[in-house]
Amino acid sequence: MPTYPATFPHAVHQLFQYRKSISTRPFNARGSGVERCEYCRIDIKHCICELLKPQTADASFVLLMFDDEVLKPSNTGRLIADVLPDTQAFLWDRTQISPEFISLINSPKYQPILVFPDEYALDEQPLLPVEKLRDRCFTEESSARPLFIMLDATWRQARKMYRKSPYLHNIPMLSIPAELMAKEPIADKPQSKTGSSDSSDSSDSSDSIIASRYHVRTASKEQQLATAEVAARVLQLSQNTQAGDVLALWFDVFSYRYQCGVKQTNSGDAKAVEHYLSYLDKTS
Ligand SMILES: [Zn+2]
Repeated sequence: MPTYPATFPHAVHQLFQYRKSISTRPFNARGSGVERCEYCRIDIKHCICELLKPQTADASFVLLMFDDEVLKPSNTGRLIADVLPDTQAFLWDRTQISPEFISLINSPKYQPILVFPDEYALDEQPLLPVEKLRDRCFTEESSARPLFIMLDATWRQARKMYRKSPYLHNIPMLSIPAELMAKEPIADKPQSKTGSSDSSDSSDSSDSIIASRYHVRTASKEQQLATAEVAARVLQLSQNTQAGDVLALWFDVFSYRYQCGVKQTNSGDAKAVEHYLSYLDKTS
């Protein structure tokens, strides 16, 4: 039995248990014959839980999860709650709106920000320029804690959730432009794909373009990123660099080890754990 972090079970684990308890039939995920860790949902032989080192940030996240998203072993919203244990999570329902979610986004403690591509924004939606992220304070009058709202679902489901949730339509919307998403964010991560042996001091990572590091589920759009990848970038751009870096690296660890478990061709980074641990080593 692995030693689980003291922050387990976090909000996504709890939501998973709840959603499972109301299921009328077992969720039939790919690789459902695999014996999975109840927390990281990876084949127990490749469990990553002992590697987790939760972080802190000057911002919080709340996940609105589409129906069975929380049941999917490949879900990555869970990784946000792994790294930032104060993350909250709710099931989305078109007609039954969680009162806890509504009171959370209306709480004076927080300034909610909806993370979503602005190309789908309704006319009335206020937009938050990405440059404002660096200020951490997004509205003139508020210094409350930023609360990033993530719609955790497939791309098509997320658009539906947005359209059918009027309570999201007056919250500032933050979109990360593709060019800011595509940059390899972690400057001191070893550049394993250059193929040159003399590039050990590769502090300039600006030419390292990776569209998405996510290979667990096939994206139907090239720019479709996993929820955890977007959250990592939001953290990095809002000056929560370490938390963002750790989340990006944790995502790589999950992606690689997850694929070890389902025995498909592994397109993850075989050195993901090494990179993650060496980053923690340097920053602790
Ligand atoms: Zn585990």
